[in-house]
Amino acid sequence: MPRLDQLLSSLGYGSRKEVADFVKKGRVLWRGEVVKRPDQKVEASDVRLDDEPLEAPDGLLVMLNKPLGHVCTHSDGEGTTVYELLPPRWMARKPAITSIGRLDKDTSGLLLITDLGPLVHRYTSPKAEVEKIYEVTVDRELDPALITTFASGSVLLRGEDKPCLPAQLEITGPLTARLTLMEGRYHQVRRMFASQGWHVEKLHRSRFGDYRLGDLAPGEWRVLELPDVK
Ligand code: URA
Repeated sequence: MPRLDQLLSSLGYGSRKEVADFVKKGRVLWRGEVVKRPDQKVEASDVRLDDEPLEAPDGLLVMLNKPLGHVCTHSDGEGTTVYELLPPRWMARKPAITSIGRLDKDTSGLLLITDLGPLVHRYTSPKAEVEKIYEVTVDRELDPALITTFASGSVLLRGEDKPCLPAQLEITGPLTARLTLMEGRYHQVRRMFASQGWHVEKLHRSRFGDYRLGDLAPGEWRVLELPDVK
């Protein structure tokens, strides 16, 4: 069993010194008893802090509807980060939370965020083949021939020599389409359209694997149940 101070600080509740202070103030219960020492060994599921159970002690998986204008990097040198939309305590978790893949600053939609390394690997490794669905708006009328081109597995992105995997394109309007990808290369959707002479004006991810945004508004997030990965 972990020490209480190590546990709470790894979950982002505060430094070990701050946790010692919680203990001193009688804010922590274990199995219904007030904890007296910060180094007491505890089981996370039986701890209460201010009468609340600990948040996601086995790991955190969050779905965010990323709004436009936020970046997925950890430093804010490039603008407001997606992490600023989440409770600050989550960034203090060890390991800190990180996004599973990234969306561009100018792309909105479904972004998964976790502190579980194995989950990141499971969804981003080249072998993962997770289906991602994007709603795309382009600058000029779409040509149905793009459907066959994208499905052919022969689209080459500028600067790369390995063609994109076959992708499914559904044309939903003169300027709008839904693209399903099984891989996640840098700026892939924009570059696939650019390779064929279209400019992507708007890009939104509506699905990632089995996850869908549902009624999450831009900037809102929801904690998800952990899949079985560990
Ligand atoms: N493809 C892009 O071009 N941008 C994204 O954000 C995601 C996929």
